[in-house]
Amino acid sequence: MSKIIGIDLGTTNSCVAVIEGGEPLVLPNSEGSRTTPSMVGFTEGDERFVGQQAKRQAIVNPERTVYDVKRLIGQKYKSQYVSHYREHLPFNIIEHTNGDAWVEVNQQTYSPQEISSLILRKMKQTAEDYFGEEITEAVITVPAYFDDAQRQATKDAGTIAGLTIRRIINEPTAAALAYGYNKDKDSNIVVFDLGGGTFDVSVVQLRDGVFEVAATCGDNNLGGEDFDRAILDFLLERFKAETGNDVSHDKMALQRLKEAAENAKCELSTLTETNINLPFLAVDDSGPRHLSLSLSRSQLNDLVYDLVERLEGPCLTAMEDAGVNRSSLDDILLVGGMTRMPLVQEKVEEIFGKRPSKGVNPDEVVAIGAAIQSGILGGEVREVILLDVTPLSLGIRVAGDRFSTIIPKNRSIPTRLSRTFTTTEDNQEVVTIDVLQGESERASENKLLGMFHLTGIEPAPKGSARIEVSFEIDTDGIVQVSARDQKSDKEHSIKVESYSGLTNDELIRAIERNR
Ligand code: AMP
Repeated sequence: MSKIIGIDLGTTNSCVAVIEGGEPLVLPNSEGSRTTPSMVGFTEGDERFVGQQAKRQAIVNPERTVYDVKRLIGQKYKSQYVSHYREHLPFNIIEHTNGDAWVEVNQQTYSPQEISSLILRKMKQTAEDYFGEEITEAVITVPAYFDDAQRQATKDAGTIAGLTIRRIINEPTAAALAYGYNKDKDSNIVVFDLGGGTFDVSVVQLRDGVFEVAATCGDNNLGGEDFDRAILDFLLERFKAETGNDVSHDKMALQRLKEAAENAKCELSTLTETNINLPFLAVDDSGPRHLSLSLSRSQLNDLVYDLVERLEGPCLTAMEDAGVNRSSLDDILLVGGMTRMPLVQEKVEEIFGKRPSKGVNPDEVVAIGAAIQSGILGGEVREVILLDVTPLSLGIRVAGDRFSTIIPKNRSIPTRLSRTFTTTEDNQEVVTIDVLQGESERASENKLLGMFHLTGIEPAPKGSARIEVSFEIDTDGIVQVSARDQKSDKEHSIKVESYSGLTNDELIRAIERNR
């Protein structure tokens, strides 16, 4: 049987790991790095690079260097989040015919799924180079807070890359699995995961080899990129104040500022002061203009204060939902590159009243967890039971734009719950229902996953039909809907129209294009 690989498909970096001789092993890519930038670069001539090579060309070719697609995957172009975010990206985001956010490079359009598939393909290649054989199966991690559309889209990215996705697991769950691997001690742990694009926090209980996620919470729109943005805005303002030049629409200048902002942020995790020097950032009547300044850690802390404050709410909610308090926690695991920032670590300590554990590598722990899950599926490591939860409530729209919950958040998955529907008019043949995911009481504020139509209902007086609709969330966190006529016990015809994702034709086209 061929190997199943574990992939952490990160917003900023990706990592691939496997089980070798019963132990997890992170595989270095062809450039010798254990993590690969999640970036895809195109040349004018349509040649493509993935990873470090793409990152290298980002400054000189910003419009053709695509990054951060994890923030776009499964998202609508018009969603508030994408509308705000796309303004800051140097490459073009367009609205696809189904309303999803897609990327445009060299007048060609690409779904975020297809861009992600190129990153996955590189991870697949890394494993193939190591094993000298074709790899066709993988476990991929996603933020716990990913909704159905984002999970489905990640699965499609795997399909385009030529990988069968055996399981999608949540990043914090993967981290907990890596942490608890071969440890027999019962404990309550918190996984605090702040990466490039997302923030997740989960409370996980380890008992007799069972890993149970007790609660999970987070913010899909909070990550290192927002910290970089805060620094970048400060640099833009400083440059404008000093030279009178506004470079906020100059893509190359923006890309240089973005890189400088991220570098400064990372340096200030170990230093208390750093210099930012960007010569020739603009040219005006008085000649070339340079940006040169020093930034201290305390200045940085002021710039990102609001972002760090936003970390607290989801942590408190997760503890409350899990029914634990600070004193019952044994360990706090830090995951994601942003947790190297001292202010973030201080905030974690303040929230949980405990110093976070330093025992795991935040860049690799998620991929290692994915590899352990692959090892379980492949029979290479001892079975452990993983009980995860759904992070978002699933429900339907009812009269008056109200949201009626069917599967509440933090329920163990897989799970299946049923509701009986009936007709509201005599001889009604079709019932149409909107399926939504989210926590707002107002249906329109939640994410519309799709709608389904119950068709072919036997003509009957209103209220007499009894159609049982089952809503199921599988182990990947993906929603399935099916229906049964209670009277005849026949499966009812049901058609779910998805509101996002690729059509079959689009999927096939993307596979062909990347063969
Ligand atoms: P991840 O998605 O886990 O790869 O996290 C990437 C994020 O972590 C990016 O925003 C990086 O800028 C950030 N990051 C990486 N190293 C550091 C560091 N030493 N200090 C602060 N942030 C970092």
